[in-house]
Formats: sequence, structure tokens, C-alpha cells
Amino acid sequence: MYLCGNKSPNTMKEIQSIGILTSGGDSPGMNAAIRAVTRSAIFAGWKVYGIYRGYEGLINGEIKEFTSESVSSTIQRGGTILKTARCEAFRTPEGRTKAFEMLHRHHIDALIVIGGNGSLSGAEELAREHDITVVGLPGTIDNDLYGTDSTIGYDTALNTIVDCVDKIRDTATSHDRIFFVEVMGRDAGFLAQNSAIAAGAEAAIIPEDRTDIDQLAQFIGRGIRKSKNSSIVIVSESKKDGGALHYAERVRKEYPEYDVRVTILGHLQRGGRPSAYDRILASRMGVAAVEALKEGQRNIMIGIKNDSIVYVPISKAVKIDKPINRELINVLTELSI
Ligand code: ATP
Repeated sequence: MYLCGNKSPNTMKEIQSIGILTSGGDSPGMNAAIRAVTRSAIFAGWKVYGIYRGYEGLINGEIKEFTSESVSSTIQRGGTILKTARCEAFRTPEGRTKAFEMLHRHHIDALIVIGGNGSLSGAEELAREHDITVVGLPGTIDNDLYGTDSTIGYDTALNTIVDCVDKIRDTATSHDRIFFVEVMGRDAGFLAQNSAIAAGAEAAIIPEDRTDIDQLAQFIGRGIRKSKNSSIVIVSESKKDGGALHYAERVRKEYPEYDVRVTILGHLQRGGRPSAYDRILASRMGVAAVEALKEGQRNIMIGIKNDSIVYVPISKAVKIDKPINRELINVLTELSI
């Protein structure tokens, strides 16, 4: 079932070649997506160009024609074979004009961008300013794109976090300690909330609740460690309040009777072999991106809703905040007594 797309006008030229790039933070499953797009496009009789180092490489012309063999033996690998980068120049109209000229020079009719919120915002601006069709694939561990239940890499990162927290639990229990474990997520709490449930943590501190509630006071107020000899609190990273270190410091000052430690999981959350779920998701989304182009769709992101592929206008995917499921907050609260 396909939802709301952006059909192009009848004047659209037939696609003969596409470019593909990965941009922003890497996520496990990006290679599976590159592989799927490449092979599906070749199956359709199109030329495929791999663009290296995201928008930076596009502007600099780091472009190479891909064959089916270019993506052999990549589905199981983390990271991205196309490399990725952050590119300041692409944030400017002049930078995007250079990028468009490079696409034009290589006769690339459509661009497939795999990345997170920023990368897809850039893709949308490029398509708004120039005559190029773009299709986005949600590639980020943060799961923060509106219109899709899951993003490529989220499931793998979630499993990595749970694996780490299980290990931290062993030492937390042995020493009767409270551990604040900081996880990624940018401004979204999906990784924190769901890893807390899956790892049996006592609480999750997430950005969606930070504004109006003192989540730490709430957690302490529930009477931590009355019946337990250790506690694990998953904290979503935050530029605003300093994340896990901030909360640990508060406990040290306000509740000096507790023995507190901090673990910041950092970049290990991005790495590793993609889970089966992410490989399948990326493969489905890659094939769907090529199908969408065949149908004349443009400026959409491929999403997944209730296990069906959907088309989401990129403008919506990047501008609307994806809400956290409040039921998850109740589940964690009730199960952590
Ligand atoms: P992740 O969620 O993993 O961090 P991301 O795609 O959100 O990935 P960003 O660093 O936000 O990562 O963006 C990647 C690149 O996309 C930027 O370096 C820049 O080149 C481009 N970009 C981001 N936002 C915009 C924008 N508003 N306009 C144009 N280009 C942008």
C-alpha cells in the first residue's frame, strides 16, 4: 500500500541514470540500501553512479559508475562503502548549484539520498531550487524521521545498546551502583525509551519529556533501590542539559548516599553488522525507491508503516516531529517497580 506521493508533471523526462549517496551519520544497513538501489536500477536498465563522501563528494565530482559487482558482499557490512561526510558548502544555494551542475555533467536524472533529517532537508532544497528528482531513504540510527515506523540502522543500534546495558547490569548489580548510560538519538528519545524497556532499565530520561517534568526527581521519588540493589537509567544525549554526566552530578549532590557511575556509549552504537531486520528493511526500501522513480514520483522519502512501504513527501518527513509512543513510557514505569 502506498501513501501520499508527489507525482511529477507529465513533462518529466524518462529516467536513464541515477546517482546514489550516503550523507550525515553512518548507520548499519546503509550498504544493504546501496546494494538494493544499485541492483534494482540495473535490473530496470538504468545506469547507476555511486557518489562518494555525501554532498561534499558530489560537489567535488567524486562519482563512479557502479555495476552489480560494485555492491557484491556488502549486505553484511556496517558503515557505508560510499563513505559519508558533513558538508557546509551544501547548506548554501551556491553549493547546491555546484552539486546540480555536477549531476547535470554526469547526465544523472535522479538522485537517491540515504541519510537522516539534515541530509534529506538538503535533498529537498536541491530539488526545490533545481530541475532534479530526488528520493530519500531514511538512514539514521535515531529513528527520528516522521512518516516511517523505522529508519535504516535503528534496529541494529537498539540491539547494540541492549547488549551493552546487559553487560553494565552485571557490574552495577555486583557493586550496588546506579549507572547512568547515555545513548544517541539527537533530539529524539526512541533509542533511550526502547532500549530501557528491552534491557529492563529502571528509567529513561528522554528529550520529549525533559521540558515539563523533572524526570530525575520522578525516578528518585519512586523510591529507587528500596527493593533493588542496583539501578540503570538510560539517558538520551542532549546538547541542552549535558546528558548523563549532568544527571549523575545532580545525584551526587542531591542524594550523596548513592554510588553513581556514568557510561557514554558513543560511536560504538553506530557500528557493527546490520541486523536481519535492518538488512530486509534497507533492501525493501532500496527496491521501493527505484519503483517510485519508475512511477514518476519525486521529492519523496520511502517509509515503512505497518509493514507496508509508503511514500512520504520529504518536506513532511523532515519538518514534522515524530511523536514518541506514550504507551512506552507507561510500560517502562509499570515494569520498573
Ligand atoms: P544523522 O541523523 O545521522 O546525524 P543527518 O543527515 O541528520 O544524519 P546532518 O549532519 O544534519 O546529518 O546533515 C548532513 C549534511 O546534510 C550536512 O552536512 C549538510 O551538507 C546537509 N544539510 C543538512 N541540513 C541542511 C539544510 N537545511 N539545507 C541544506 N543542506 C543541509
